[in-house]
Amino acid sequence: MFGDEKRAVAIAVKSNELSITWDERHESTFPFRALRAECRCAFCVDEITRERRIGLQDIATDIKIEDWIDVGKYAIQILWSDGHSEGIYPFEMLLSLCPCSVCVDQGT
Ligand SMILES: [Zn+2]
Ligand SMILES: [Zn+2]
Repeated sequence: MFGDEKRAVAIAVKSNELSITWDERHESTFPFRALRAECRCAFCVDEITRERRIGLQDIATDIKIEDWIDVGKYAIQILWSDGHSEGIYPFEMLLSLCPCSVCVDQGT
């Protein structure tokens, strides 16, 4: 299913949000804090119960992205200013979280 993989054409860390460009008509912007709260690593979400351990209330309001790296072709791993770096954000997941009006209207 190579052709169905979600790819980002551009990723930019802005002052308080992460911007991901998917194609010329679609760009997603994710506020840092909300994105940090979506982390699905084993530390933030219990692997067995799926209970969220680290949520929005646990995250500093001034959280920032220090750095990020590509994980294969399908995800990025984000290093947060609170020292947390376990979180892998697949493009598929990021797209499903896209807060733009088109995606919200589609209910995706
Ligand atoms: Zn995490
Ligand atoms: Zn969107």
